[in-house]
Amino acid sequence: MMHKPVDLRSDTVTQPTAAMRAAMQAAPLGDDVFGDDPSVNALQEKIAALLGFEAALFVPTGTQGNLCAILGHCQRGDEYIVGQQAHCYRWEGGGAAVFGSVQPQPLNHQPDGTLALGDIEAAIKPDDAHFARTRLLALENTLGGKLLPFDYVEQATQLAQDRGLGRHLDGARLFNAAVAQAAQTGSDAFTEARRIAQCFDSVSVCFSKGLGAPVGSALCGSPGFIARAHRIRKMAGGGMRQSGMLAAAAAHALDHHVVRLAQDHALAQRLADGLAGIDGLRVEAPQTNILFVDLTGAAKARSADLLRHLADNGIQATGLYRLRFVTHLDVDAADIDRAAAVVRQFFNG
Ligand SMILES: *Cc1c(COP(=O)(O)O)cnc(C)c1O
Repeated sequence: MMHKPVDLRSDTVTQPTAAMRAAMQAAPLGDDVFGDDPSVNALQEKIAALLGFEAALFVPTGTQGNLCAILGHCQRGDEYIVGQQAHCYRWEGGGAAVFGSVQPQPLNHQPDGTLALGDIEAAIKPDDAHFARTRLLALENTLGGKLLPFDYVEQATQLAQDRGLGRHLDGARLFNAAVAQAAQTGSDAFTEARRIAQCFDSVSVCFSKGLGAPVGSALCGSPGFIARAHRIRKMAGGGMRQSGMLAAAAAHALDHHVVRLAQDHALAQRLADGLAGIDGLRVEAPQTNILFVDLTGAAKARSADLLRHLADNGIQATGLYRLRFVTHLDVDAADIDRAAAVVRQFFNG
């Protein structure tokens, strides 16, 4: 029997819903390089207001949003403190160094994804000709699907502020963090998103991950900061024209796809439960929509076979010895149960 493929490689793989396509179709358009695309302007005002900032900039990718942010905070010869696993250090081609001559100062993460306050403190260089000028702390939330504890976010950003550093949040999955945090505090996702965002001077968010839009991110900050970021976006080739069609998809996602992220989180937990107790797998408890599963012992040698078995049965994931499954808008409980069954079949059969 043929099943529909279950693509758990990333939450970027979602297709726009019919309602989202209708919103895109209906969007009034202008030319955003002239600043007169009403749908882009509306989105920028909407995300800035939601997160408690005065200004925002629509950018084609999260990578470009982070680049505009780091170059907006730092000059040549400055440095930013960042985690070893942070997207804006490890997964963006070293763009801040390549395009901005901004040096990263990567730090190891603690098991919960945080950077130890003592490590941050120790990495801040004195004002001395030997050293790059430490100018920025960049955090990421969620990081690898982990929600940074809110009291940590407050302490780390307070430390940075006390030491005169700018503070940037790579919030590609800020709304996943907010939904998970809201479940802890009993508050709502939008309140928690704003609470997290307000610890920072700038925040980038992706619309094309769990929010389900086809393209786009936003960078939020003060008007002066966003004016600098706008110039950098232009240099990076990110000035788009009738981009209101894309902005309309993002606005639709903010209206309809934030609260439902809780379903993705529940599905990641459902998959974790479905894979529990298999000899040869160590299943990490998921906090949001990303599930990591390590192959252990003798199972490690069979990882290529496992991936082939998954692919043959229409289940897509990434990794080799550490598999990553990401839940999203386009998978449901039946898909997740089938994915778990396919993995079980491999180990039982
Ligand atoms: C996906 C992602 C980005 C940006 O990715 P793009 O593919 O450039 O949109 C940035 N940070 C994090 C944490 C991400 O997961």
